[in-house]
Amino acid sequence: MHSHHNALGLASALRPVQPVTLIRPHAARRAARFFVEKFLGRALYAVKANPSPDLLRVLWDSGITHFDVASIAEVRLVAETLPAAVQCFMHPVKAEEAIREAYFDHGVRTFSLDTMDELDKIVRATGNADDLNLCVRIRVSSDHSKLSLASKFGAEPDEMKELLFAARQAADALGVCFHVGSQAMTPAAYAEAMERVRAAIVQAAVTVDIVDVGGGFPSTYPGMEPPPLETYFEVIHRAFESLPISYSAELWCEPGRALCAEYASVLVRVEKRRGDELYINDGAYGALFDAAHIGWRFPVNLVREEASDARDLPFSFYGPTCDDLDRMAGPFMLPADVGPGDYIEIGMLGAYGCAMRTAFNGFGAVSTMVVADEPMASLYETDREVASSNVVQL
Ligand SMILES: *Cc1c(COP(=O)(O)O)cnc(C)c1O
Repeated sequence: MHSHHNALGLASALRPVQPVTLIRPHAARRAARFFVEKFLGRALYAVKANPSPDLLRVLWDSGITHFDVASIAEVRLVAETLPAAVQCFMHPVKAEEAIREAYFDHGVRTFSLDTMDELDKIVRATGNADDLNLCVRIRVSSDHSKLSLASKFGAEPDEMKELLFAARQAADALGVCFHVGSQAMTPAAYAEAMERVRAAIVQAAVTVDIVDVGGGFPSTYPGMEPPPLETYFEVIHRAFESLPISYSAELWCEPGRALCAEYASVLVRVEKRRGDELYINDGAYGALFDAAHIGWRFPVNLVREEASDARDLPFSFYGPTCDDLDRMAGPFMLPADVGPGDYIEIGMLGAYGCAMRTAFNGFGAVSTMVVADEPMASLYETDREVASSNVVQL
């Protein structure tokens, strides 16, 4: 893969006509090391946030050995990319054929569920296997998160007793899992969820071997700066220590966003300006789904050889398709003299950005380049020495 120092080096050298995904393996490495070293348990990478095989390998090389997968295509991808990785199939509603293939062909032993039907399905599809790790997903509040995952999945607290009891009979190891919603803005989200877990365990009076606090760990975006990740870990560690579970019970988490948000940005070109609206060559059907559909703001930077000294103004973006929905309201703060032909770097698109790209209207093509500079924002301590020593390995 080609590499450049930064967006400006790339834009000056290549004047790219199509958007370019800029990847920063050192940023993903730093995030993975952070979880491996500071989370006192096991961190599974949630593959859906960004399934790029290059990223999977970077995470693996940095000590992430377990992967949270949600579809048979993700199972096959991880099996192919990292044959020694351990996969956990954490979607609570799976096709029976997918469970069978995952279990018999790819060695998957960990499955989540939130109904008796799903438990029966797993038992049937695996031929009454006696080596299953079964994680019962409990519904928790998404109130502290920017993106809810609360309505779709999770057993109600009053259904947990029967489910935990039945899963205990079928499981070698029994777990409880939840998801507080994505981009949880306060550690209190986990404290409250752990209280539900405690109540469910006490009521069911079963031995629990795994407590999986799911994803939801935040990244940093304009207007959404969360407290340090360490404070999330402290809250989770404390709650875990006080649960009525076996002495050897394991603590798991499933970060998606936090491991890869800083991994990628996108370099786009302005094709037209109409007042405070910029028509750019990537959009809602490309890497900017969240910017369009949930009004997410991402950091932006005008990429010009001679920095503009015009003051910043708020702009909105239109994407390249012939569709009014292809609009990102922002506001995105850029120098007042930005115009056609200018390049803009849009940061923090490593999670749920590049992964969402479609080819709608003929605009899916992108190239990918490695850059060595720092991401436009970071939740991790900047260790310039580590970052620059990694450049040579790219
Ligand atoms: C999406 C998802 C994750 C990752 O969530 P983030 O908010 O990106 O950390 C983890 N676990 C499950 C079950 C998920 O569906």
